[in-house]
Amino acid sequence: MKIPFVSFLPMERELEQDLRAAFERVFARSWYIGGAEDEAFEKAFAQYCGSKYCVGVGNGLDALMLALKALGIGAGDEVIVPSNTYIATALAVMYVGAKPVFVEPDIRTFNIDPSRIEAAITARTKAIMPVHLYGQACDMDPIMEIAHQYGLKVVEDCAQAHGATYKGRRIGTFGDAAGFSFYPGKNLGALGDGGAAVTDNEALAAHIRALGNYGSDYKYHHIYKGNNSRLDEMQAAFLAAKLPHLDRMNEERRRIAALYTEGIVNPKVVKPYVAPACVPVWHIYGVRCAERDALEKHLSEKGIGTNKHYPIPMHLQACCKDLQIPEGALPIAEEISRTELSIPMYYGMTDEEVQYVIDAINAF
Ligand SMILES: *Cc1c(COP(=O)(O)O)cnc(C)c1O
Repeated sequence: MKIPFVSFLPMERELEQDLRAAFERVFARSWYIGGAEDEAFEKAFAQYCGSKYCVGVGNGLDALMLALKALGIGAGDEVIVPSNTYIATALAVMYVGAKPVFVEPDIRTFNIDPSRIEAAITARTKAIMPVHLYGQACDMDPIMEIAHQYGLKVVEDCAQAHGATYKGRRIGTFGDAAGFSFYPGKNLGALGDGGAAVTDNEALAAHIRALGNYGSDYKYHHIYKGNNSRLDEMQAAFLAAKLPHLDRMNEERRRIAALYTEGIVNPKVVKPYVAPACVPVWHIYGVRCAERDALEKHLSEKGIGTNKHYPIPMHLQACCKDLQIPEGALPIAEEISRTELSIPMYYGMTDEEVQYVIDAINAF
């Protein structure tokens, strides 16, 4: 049997008619940037999240970067980010001229450990960026408490967790603003690049919107030196067609995750831990294994695709050399980079395929 790490085909087959109809609608209108589709999707997505405002942008990185910029974060400032995340989180901070300060995760949840945040706060700290990694919410209560105590802004990186909840509330609604990615592989993915920022703050939403539209609040009036980062009409129409199916598709991921969690019984393999306050959406099902590379090879020989999130921690990436953080300085992130293996997880995996993966892991 051949099982890819990820496949969009089952979802695409199911939604093909809706996606084609979305294309036809936009094409017939012959209007591609800034219009009715974007407006309708923003409204639907804000409502889905439980936020007042949503601003469509070009991608997830820009959503985070423009939110930080609109919050006034820039040169000389420090922003606390988890040491284990995709590079985009730290790049957003560096793009606005600020310095990312890495805080180690809780190795069980892979998410930032709130008990380690205070030690990283300095006079320059302006914000915390919790990342709801692999589809599970961070422990938001203590994070928000620290932010309030120190007067810090909070920008949530929701790129991997569309629809996940913490204590019954959707992620993206805890901080000052949140950034989402609609990269095709994300739980809610476009047929290309896309992203959005959500917030309850009307002025902040307007600021982010202007920053993504050449700094313009009104045609040919430029109040900021902005970027060009907009969600186009075609992607907005595709996303609006997919959004009504998101909860159902996340539920299916939870069903697959439950089968994995029940079925995998190899003592060499540590399964992901779900905190009691969280209902995750399983963007990634990541196991840990001391012999990770051997497990990867074993699964590959059985036709099973896997991935590593992430094989090189950010502080050891070539582009972060200037931060001067030596190897060994962030041992938990380094341990995750050596031991984490992501196994197949996507809407439409059959029970037979899930069982094949379970049997292969148990035979390792
Ligand atoms: C995907 C991702 C991003 C960036 O999103 P893009 O749309 O690819 O720019 C940011 N943060 C995390 C955690 C991600 O997984």
